[in-house]
Amino acid sequence: MNLKEEATQLAKSVTLNDYISYGDVAAAIETLEGNVYTGISIDTACSLGHCAEHSAVSEMLKHGEYRIKAVVAVDSGGNAVPPCGRCRELMSQLSPDNRKSIVEVRNGIFKTLEELMPFDWKNESGQRR
Ligand SMILES: [Zn+2]
Repeated sequence: MNLKEEATQLAKSVTLNDYISYGDVAAAIETLEGNVYTGISIDTACSLGHCAEHSAVSEMLKHGEYRIKAVVAVDSGGNAVPPCGRCRELMSQLSPDNRKSIVEVRNGIFKTLEELMPFDWKNESGQRR
């Protein structure tokens, strides 16, 4: 099963109650170590939820990994959706290596995180200015 298929099988929207739904978007991350971690979005009233990429990053960190080889997020139709600005920044801050992460931004369209964020605010050593 490829990365996109792993995400697609998790992208099933569930409405829990009047306030919370989850799984509208699912994400899968492949690390440089070759492991795959997945996550789903949580949408809530009052903006308390988070993106699928965010929860996939959390799963990855639980296993002590933080360098991303490739990432994809999909909607419930299995279509690739680009990461939001917050998720791009999160993945970028995890490691300078992640600037080379491959992101499927639309079906069949792949960009590096660096291409999505060409003017990084951090310097080349990864230290804040
Ligand atoms: Zn996001």
